[in-house]
Amino acid sequence: MQILKDRIRKDGKIKAGNVLKVDSFLNHQMDIKLFGEIGKEFKRRFADTEVNKILTIEASGIGIACIVAQYFDVPVVFAKKTQTKNIAGEVYTTKVESFTHGRVYDIIVSKEFLGKGDKVLLIDDFLANGKALEGLAALVRDSGAELVGAGIVIEKGFQVGGDLLRSEGIRLESLAIVDSMDEEAGTIVFRDDE
Ligand code: 5GP
Repeated sequence: MQILKDRIRKDGKIKAGNVLKVDSFLNHQMDIKLFGEIGKEFKRRFADTEVNKILTIEASGIGIACIVAQYFDVPVVFAKKTQTKNIAGEVYTTKVESFTHGRVYDIIVSKEFLGKGDKVLLIDDFLANGKALEGLAALVRDSGAELVGAGIVIEKGFQVGGDLLRSEGIRLESLAIVDSMDEEAGTIVFRDDE
C-alpha cells in the first residue's frame, strides 16, 4: 500500500533492537484519515471472504481495528492482557510473549463474545515474531470460531512471524512488508507486495 509505505519512510524512526517507531501516525498519535485508507484496503483484500467479527489485542490494535470494522460493518472484540490468576471458566485464555516488552502475559477473551459460528478477521498493527497473532489465533481455535485471516498494517519481513503464520495456512495480508531497515543510515527497504 503505497501511501502507507511513503508515510513510514517519511515519519518512521528506526530504533535499536529491530524496532520501528511510528508514534506520529499509528501507535501514539493516530492519523484517522490514513486509518480509513487502511480499512478500505483490508476490505478490498478480504472482499471474497465472509467476516462477522474483528479480533485484535490491546492496546495499539484497538484504534486500527475500530476504523477497519466500519468498512466490514462488524463489531470489534479486543483480547485483554491480564495477570489475574484463576480466570479459567468464563474466558478463553492463552499466553503471549511480548516482542516490545520481552515478558510473557496472559490474554483473555470472554466466552460471551467469541464462539462457534463466528467468522473472525484478526487485525494488528505490527507482525514481528508472530506471538501476538498466534495467541489470537489460539483463542479463535479454542472458541470453535472460524479464522478467516489476519490483516497486519506493518510486517517486519526479516523476522519469523510472517513465514510461520503463512506456513500454518493462515491467510495473511500485510499492507507494508519491511524487508530490511538500517538504523544508522535510517533507510527502509520494502518488499514489493502489490
Ligand atoms: P510479535 O508478537 O509478532 O512478535 O509482535 C507483535 C506485537 O509487538 C505487535 O502487537 C506490536 O504491538 C509489537 N511490535 C513488534 N514489533 C514492533 C515494532 O517494530 N514497532 C512497534 N511499534 N511495535 C512492535
